[in-house]
Amino acid sequence: MVFKYIPPRKAASLFTHFGAKNAGDGMAVALAGMRVEKVVAAAGFNSRSNPTVMAGIVRSDGKLFSFAVDQGASTGKREGLELLDKGGLFGGKGVSKAVKNVRETLAPLVEGIPLATSQKDFDAVLRKADGTKYLTNLGANAVLPLSAAYARARADAMGLPLHQYLNNEIGNPFPIRSPVLFMNVFNAGKHAKQAEGAFPGQEIMIAPVGAKNAAQALEMGVQAWAMMGKMLKERKLPISIGDEGGYANPFPTARESFGFIKEATERAGFGWGRDIVLAVDPAASEFFGKNVHDGDEMVHGRKYHFENGKLYLPGQMGVFWEGTARRYPILSMEDIHAQNDFAGWKSTTKNIGGHMQLVGDDVFCTNKSLLNMGIREGIANSVLIKLNQNGTVYGTLEVMKRALEKGYTAMISHRSGLGMDDFISYLALLTGQIKAGSSRERLMIYNQIILLEETYGLKYAGIHAFSPDVQAYWNAAWNR
Ligand code: PEP
Ligand code: CA
Repeated sequence: MVFKYIPPRKAASLFTHFGAKNAGDGMAVALAGMRVEKVVAAAGFNSRSNPTVMAGIVRSDGKLFSFAVDQGASTGKREGLELLDKGGLFGGKGVSKAVKNVRETLAPLVEGIPLATSQKDFDAVLRKADGTKYLTNLGANAVLPLSAAYARARADAMGLPLHQYLNNEIGNPFPIRSPVLFMNVFNAGKHAKQAEGAFPGQEIMIAPVGAKNAAQALEMGVQAWAMMGKMLKERKLPISIGDEGGYANPFPTARESFGFIKEATERAGFGWGRDIVLAVDPAASEFFGKNVHDGDEMVHGRKYHFENGKLYLPGQMGVFWEGTARRYPILSMEDIHAQNDFAGWKSTTKNIGGHMQLVGDDVFCTNKSLLNMGIREGIANSVLIKLNQNGTVYGTLEVMKRALEKGYTAMISHRSGLGMDDFISYLALLTGQIKAGSSRERLMIYNQIILLEETYGLKYAGIHAFSPDVQAYWNAAWNR
């Protein structure tokens, strides 16, 4: 189909600002004359069957490029806003306002923009239209899908695979590799229906660092996951799948959970701690600082209400994880402290950050200023990357680059409500680490990674995805 040229509306003044000079010389020819012809948006549904925004860009050659947004459940306080209808259908979780914002506010601004416009400048138009720090006017779920659809449209126009385009747009700082897969095999908290008293730590992941490539890593992870299902059945334990494809954790403690995974890993034929290591994301903001009962007493404030109903002070929480990490091959710990427990974060980073990957999710919210604060204050040594926390592709790339510059690693992440979009499969080739669940619809993210690995002959990051300190620790403690 050939689209008739639609004259720019509000974009007119942008044409003088965004010249073909933004594209590299060789690319200018490919991009010449190509424009954003039309923007489309619709409400689809995510893996939780909640509505989600899908947006598309139709280029002047008639080709459609689109993106569908994920949805978080354990969200950080300072992340890009998911604008929901808060009334009406779907228990208030409709996205008709966000869809309207794409159609009525953003579309007129970007229709007509030449594809020569860099990702940075395109995203600046979107951010300016919203005008707030956390995209609270239009919604990150309105802004991001356009930003990501534009990346796809422009990468294609340049004849570049998406991962290469993304690396180019931020100055090519990243080595392209196939990433370590962090497969979330035990789900809990907001992501699963658990029995009363079960371990509340949101995610326990296995990472096949010893695989020769991502394809083998996926095979190993899937086999270990299947063995866990078989063992749950043998033990007549409840089998229910959580939001990210892992089993709803039926065990009361972290240690029992790890012991079970160890047995499954070994029965599946893999070396514990050598082929497969562990990672955790207890999502500590979810059980910190609430008013809770301690026996008969109501306790207020800065404590963690953790396993077996016990209360932990920030320092004790760090000590708990330090002790656990001595017994089990854990190489990565995300959000073991809450987003506002800076003291806890700092002391744990000081104590174990020299050999343990400490990933900040809620505390950083894929936000460059928050990451800079963390770097200054000695909080964590790794950052979780979620596109919709940031709200634009370029903003996300900036956070990843900042992390790299400062010796922080970066783990790309899905959200618990998957928009069924494989954009992050490409993004993960830049940082060498990805967490995207462990079964069902989550496998599409990993499947795409192994196809990319095959297509471009990528080398598996494996243990080298971690900082040299973590690698040295693993070699000494587990790679024997
Ligand atoms: C997470 O906490 O890291 C996560 C993926 O969950 P959600 O998408 O619910 O924030
Ligand atoms: Ca998290």
